[in-house]
Amino acid sequence: MAYFPLFVNLNDRLVLIVGGGKVAARRAASLSGFGCRIRVVSPEICKELRRLLKNGQIDWLQKKYETGTLLDEGRPAFVLAAGPSGVNEAVVRDCRSLGIPVNDASQKERCDFYFPGLIRQGETVIGVTSGGTDHRLAASLSAVVRDYMKERGESRGEKQRKKEPGPVDLHVHSTASDGSLTPSELVSLAVKNGLSAIALTDHDTVSGIDEALTAAGEIEVIPGIEISCIYEEKELHILGLFIDHHSRGLACFLEAAAARRKERNRKILEAFQRDGFQLSWEDLLSGHQETTVTRAHFARALLKKGYVSSVDQAFREYLNPECPYYRPREAILPKEALEAIRSAGGLSVLAHPCQYRFGWNKTEVLLSYLKDLGLDGVECWHSSNHIEESRKLRSLAEAYGLFPTGGSDFHGAAKPDIELGRGRGNLRIPYSVLENVRRHRHF
Ligand SMILES: [Zn+2]
Repeated sequence: MAYFPLFVNLNDRLVLIVGGGKVAARRAASLSGFGCRIRVVSPEICKELRRLLKNGQIDWLQKKYETGTLLDEGRPAFVLAAGPSGVNEAVVRDCRSLGIPVNDASQKERCDFYFPGLIRQGETVIGVTSGGTDHRLAASLSAVVRDYMKERGESRGEKQRKKEPGPVDLHVHSTASDGSLTPSELVSLAVKNGLSAIALTDHDTVSGIDEALTAAGEIEVIPGIEISCIYEEKELHILGLFIDHHSRGLACFLEAAAARRKERNRKILEAFQRDGFQLSWEDLLSGHQETTVTRAHFARALLKKGYVSSVDQAFREYLNPECPYYRPREAILPKEALEAIRSAGGLSVLAHPCQYRFGWNKTEVLLSYLKDLGLDGVECWHSSNHIEESRKLRSLAEAYGLFPTGGSDFHGAAKPDIELGRGRGNLRIPYSVLENVRRHRHF
């Protein structure tokens, strides 16, 4: 039996989420634009929830669920059980006895209501559910409706119809990786800067995307990612655009990649500590719990502790492949990155080709190599490019049948000279670039 959709006023109401994992985080991110107080009950919470906690979007009751917890802070409007199955069962039982509506993420039969996929444009809210029977259908339906809403939003009103949509920025970082603005703050800034779309492309994570999609009202948010991989000893960045950020294949790939990186960092840190360096894991993170640690983090920590007088010196004396502290990492290959993006239905783009300093001949070899592996596009406009470089990249893109994209690589305070959508002042990526990318989507 299908369930009837209701739209509920949650302003100032309490919503309880039992569980601290990714499902709980997704639900909290979706709810956070609707005025409710969100309380998470769990002994542990994942890094996405920690980010929401840091931003003041949720509060956290750090303990195991027990019956009394339900009414701790007053009666919740409803409860989302997103913990281990046994805990969910107890939550459902307690909610039923108190007459509180409950959703059990682990078993649809135990749901009083479904938690829908959300599309929102200002006051217009659309919820999509397939009643837990066909997740793919619900996801593709959501994508179609989202596109429709976007188009309709654009064609509304004479004035808007005549106006060319604002420029786009297809390479942007948030606090989900190493940027300084939250996904919602990025969306607000994009609106303020007159952009019509941004692609959120955090390093090796998709954890900011749900929040950005929920915040996206007037502008389009394209789910994206930036995956690091190794090509001839150099780190390459591959962007994924229009990815299904809930793809299981992509999630498995990212988890495995993170484990490989962490293992290498642990070995480097141990080598330093063995030789008496006063370095700790906290020194590397320097307050950013969610950051992806790279050799640059080691260099900055060495500088801060006074072991070197510059980051350059740290690389020269301690961190380059000839040094005793260097550890090779089990490289993620471009092929794996491209496959992961493709498996999530996304388009792959080589980010900022000029930053690798290959020279034009080798860049061409690289493009041809990646094209054979399935690369779709090239980032031709970037904050660090000169006009001539952008021009050359466009002609290479055309020669290899790759579409051109562009983005600022905005990181907020982490790279203060780069503005969202404007780069170092001379970047402007017209909306037509995004329209062209969209035409290449695989369906
Ligand atoms: Zn980037």
